[in-house]
Formats: sequence, structure tokens, C-alpha cells
Amino acid sequence: MMRIGMGYDVHAFGAGDHVMLGSIRIAHPRGVIAHSDGDVLLHALCDALLGAAGLGDIGQHFRNDDPRYRGIASSQLVAECMTRIGALGFRVVNADLTLLAEQPRLGGVRTQICAAVAALLGCEAVNVKATTTEGLGAIGRGDGLAAYAVVLLESST
Ligand code: MG
Repeated sequence: MMRIGMGYDVHAFGAGDHVMLGSIRIAHPRGVIAHSDGDVLLHALCDALLGAAGLGDIGQHFRNDDPRYRGIASSQLVAECMTRIGALGFRVVNADLTLLAEQPRLGGVRTQICAAVAALLGCEAVNVKATTTEGLGAIGRGDGLAAYAVVLLESST
């Protein structure tokens, strides 16, 4: 059985000196406002994983008013999602992530992000894309950044 899922996430920029993207720390003049580490790529990925497995969304599993998740590394949230979908017999076939941001540009860290996400998913077929929004809208003004994720899951049942 195959199941597809998609996820979307957005975070506003705030005070800080780095952003987390795909669990990689990237130096940046602004941070993101978030309860966790604000990793939009991994939050979109969590929603795609949960959606594909029919398990609702990230907010149902990890409440953003729960002190246990304050400042948590989003890689831990992905790992927990993997545990929950694994319990249903699913494995990841591939994942395709898209970052929407004027800045930061992924450039040289794209390979690192792919490797980190692949390790989290236990799957080598991970693709990471990035696009600006051509200066349009909130993302284009540099108010924040957003991400889409699509994953395909397979189970033997
Ligand atoms: Mg988020």
C-alpha cells in the first residue's frame, strides 16, 4: 500500500542570529519566532509524514503550548513522527521539500540538509529545493520563510 502526504509550514522572522533548516544551523541576521527551534522544513515534513499515515497534524501530536516542546530540536519531532508511522508499518519511499524564502539562500548547505533529512527518514531519496517568491507577498518582503513537503510512504499491508 502506498500513501502520499503533504505539509506546509511558515514562521516569521524575529530576533536571533541563525535559522534551522532541515536540522542544519545556518547563520542569519534574524532568527525565527517559534515554540520549538522553528525549522520550517522539518515542520512541513512532520505534517507530510503524519498526513500520509492518516495521523492528523503536527499540532495534534506536539502542542505548541506544551512546555516539553519549548525550544525542542525539530529533528526530535521528525524522529517521533517516524516512530508513530513506523508503528503502523510504514516506511518512507521518498521525500521532496521546498523552501520559500528570499533569504537565507541554501547554496552550499543543501547537500548537508539532504543528508540530515535522509538520516532522519532512513531513506536516501530526499530532494530539497528552494525558491524565492520574486519579491511578492510576506515571504517576498522578507517577513519570514515557509516550506512545503511531500512524502510517499509504503507499507507491506
Ligand atoms: Mg512550525
